[in-house]
Amino acid sequence: MQTKILKKKTVFFLFSLLITLFAADKVFPPPQPKPFSKAVYSKKGELLKAYLTNDDKWRLRTDPKRLPEYLTEAVIAKEDKYFFYHPGVNVFAVFRALYSNITSGERTSGASTITMQLVRILEPRKRTYFNKLIETIRALQFEFHYSKDEILQLYLSYAPFGGNVEGIASAAYIYFNRAPEELSLAQATSLIIIPNDPNNLRIDRNSIKTKAQRDKWLKKFERNGVFPHSQITSALAEELPPKRYSVPNNAPHFCNFISAKVKYDAIETTLHLKEQKLTENILKKYIMKIRAKGISNGAVIVIDNAENEVIAYVGSADYTNAEISGQVNGVEAVRSPGSTLKPFLYAYGFDRGIIAPKSKLLDIPFDFGGYEPENYDRKFNGLVTVDFALKNSLNLPAVAMLRRLGISEFVSLLSNLGFSDVDKMKTKLGLSLILGGCGVRLGQLSRAYTTFSHGGVLFPLKYLQRQKTGKGRKLFSEGSSFLIADILSSVERPDIQVGYFANSKLPKFAWKTGTSYGKRDAWAVGFNPRYTIGVWTGNFSGKGSPHLSGAEIAVPLLVELFNVIDFDGKGWFAFPDDLRERKVCELSGLLPSKNCGILVDDYFIENVSSNKRCDWHSVFYLNKDETISYCVECLPETGAHKKVFPKLPPELAYWRSISGVAYDVPPEHNPECSAGFGNSDLKIISPQPDYEYLIEKGSGKKILLQAVTGEKSKKIYWYVNDKLIASVKPNEKVYFTPTKENNKIFCIDDLGGKKSLSVKVKFY
Ligand SMILES: [Zn+2]
Ligand SMILES: [Zn+2]
Repeated sequence: MQTKILKKKTVFFLFSLLITLFAADKVFPPPQPKPFSKAVYSKKGELLKAYLTNDDKWRLRTDPKRLPEYLTEAVIAKEDKYFFYHPGVNVFAVFRALYSNITSGERTSGASTITMQLVRILEPRKRTYFNKLIETIRALQFEFHYSKDEILQLYLSYAPFGGNVEGIASAAYIYFNRAPEELSLAQATSLIIIPNDPNNLRIDRNSIKTKAQRDKWLKKFERNGVFPHSQITSALAEELPPKRYSVPNNAPHFCNFISAKVKYDAIETTLHLKEQKLTENILKKYIMKIRAKGISNGAVIVIDNAENEVIAYVGSADYTNAEISGQVNGVEAVRSPGSTLKPFLYAYGFDRGIIAPKSKLLDIPFDFGGYEPENYDRKFNGLVTVDFALKNSLNLPAVAMLRRLGISEFVSLLSNLGFSDVDKMKTKLGLSLILGGCGVRLGQLSRAYTTFSHGGVLFPLKYLQRQKTGKGRKLFSEGSSFLIADILSSVERPDIQVGYFANSKLPKFAWKTGTSYGKRDAWAVGFNPRYTIGVWTGNFSGKGSPHLSGAEIAVPLLVELFNVIDFDGKGWFAFPDDLRERKVCELSGLLPSKNCGILVDDYFIENVSSNKRCDWHSVFYLNKDETISYCVECLPETGAHKKVFPKLPPELAYWRSISGVAYDVPPEHNPECSAGFGNSDLKIISPQPDYEYLIEKGSGKKILLQAVTGEKSKKIYWYVNDKLIASVKPNEKVYFTPTKENNKIFCIDDLGGKKSLSVKVKFY
């Protein structure tokens, strides 16, 4: 009975004690460790840059796994031999210390465990026996909350190293200019003694004193058998110069950009320090070379396509140069893209089936409702293939293509490609967007180009090692992506200097240039299976330069970067399954009919590309001298011989006739023909010939153009002063805003009917 009660009492007592301890732990939780410095690391683990904490400390989180083994061994041997075995307090050591204090009357501090020292670092108290008791309880509490490894990590991260230096990692960079894993035994020993007396043992001030202490401990390590004699001998021979280095400050634009994005402190990124340095140097030297041309800045991003990792990121020509606003990050600056969005438009056109590389596009003057795009060289080419238009970055075909595909459809494609600034202003964008009338960032632009390297799939850019690659978003077909890469890797184009690719170590890559309106921005984005590299040059002030052009300024830099980053790189994209080859009519770019003459090879995307047959070649019946053509109605009984003639789209035929481009025209139709074949009934009903309009200056008042035709015509084309302004159905009304006093109005239909008149405008 007695023992039973005793047992109950004991259980009750232990239970109450447990509850009390638990409650005490809740009421007095262990101190919250202070936040660490944000530190950004390269892919290989090099410290790129670190930031002072809010309380102005260099306090890098120290990962014991990244320390040399002898460093942790030395710390434990010196501070707390039984660290891994005691519960936070070393009872034997306490008694030994007490005993020696009492007998000798001196205070020695051998009894402090690493855990207790950590408590003191986090919660400094006066040294009294009572406080020592509190520290002991706290130490037990810490052991309850944290593992041994965590306690060691906290100790190594928070230990004071003089001034505003906390933690052994910070100390390694500041006193030895090296990563903690690169510390020698002598250096490691010099560091681990500092926390005992941080203000007197600072290496930058008292290196002689520190060295004496270091040597004393090294010898003790040898006596205690911690390290062998040979290791100690060479450690003792090492100098200890009094130095203080600055914390690394690599890739500052990148580090600022990425550290602002994340909440944690040890930021492991994808950046390659070697490529970063190379890129920085190349950009800096290049901009110095072209500064005399009024171009002071540039930015570069290099992406490894395999995982879409950003491996180099340079936001300006010189971060430290305030004169050029070097701290501004050009990779994230919103600028006009010039022509760099054109590949996305053509890729979209391929996937919508309306074009293939050898399809024909018109490159003739056209007025898009007051918007009259011109080519870079102010020349028009008449009829061009899609690949020629893209390689030569022709403006008119691109604008016409955008109108054909739809502005809002293309804008939503750009939004899907990650152009957030385009998305923000999507309702305000017009046809000029394809020539740069919108805003993009170099980082986003380069990322969008990586879709062509990934068979049309867009992935997020990977900056952080912990980022998952994910599934990505399919935006183009594989065939379309291959075609863009194929066209843009052709060296027969105006924006590359002859001889670049004669350098056999320069890898093959595709590229596109861009020059913004007013020559304010020059771009070049290049890609091959391995890398995507984006380059911007210009001035952060927005000032233009007559020399600024994608081809002349940005391309040489891009070539140099590819030559260094992907030196001697080999290989190209595999020919995709959805792409096939076929012959098309050389003139129309359409599938050949039996009348077509010359055929050329073209690619097409299976089940997508248009299968329209060529209707540009027609058989004409001619008299012997080929001066008259006949139709079936008026074909003479004596017969006539057949000849094929091209039947060009009327607007192209007209452009050729006024620009003096010769082409085969069938002879006039038999004037005695009763069927009236080829005779158009085209008639302009507005405006009236030789009518004079009185228009208020700047009022924007429009003039109506309207024409009627016979039943056979399907389309009519309106020109004002030799510029095509509209192609419409017969009877459809067209308006134009006159800007000149004398206006030549010209109208043709698809049967070859032509009518013209002139309109005089008096502005008042
Ligand atoms: Zn043909
Ligand atoms: Zn006839």
